[in-house]
Amino acid sequence: MEYFPEVSEEQIRREREKARELRRSQWWKNRIATGICYYCGSQVAPKALTLDHVVPVIRGGRSTRGNCVPCCKECNNQKKHMLPVEWQSYLERLGKEPAD
Ligand SMILES: [Zn+2]
Repeated sequence: MEYFPEVSEEQIRREREKARELRRSQWWKNRIATGICYYCGSQVAPKALTLDHVVPVIRGGRSTRGNCVPCCKECNNQKKHMLPVEWQSYLERLGKEPAD
């Protein structure tokens, strides 16, 4: 099934620090200026968008531009409580037309 590498406390600390720096960058300010959530596509206030790691830091995800996306509060809350496989099916549902 899914394999996650072991992540040290040190790596987690380092990646979280990098995420803080990324949040202060012009690149990030440009990303949130659109106000669009990467996952559900909702338009919200730029201030309401949080930086989310697509692959969580605790799962070995890095604070790179490719792994950090703007995320609305609703998606952020949903994601936190879901397993990666559940989150995947949530995203698939978002991308689909209603069944009926
Ligand atoms: Zn969202």
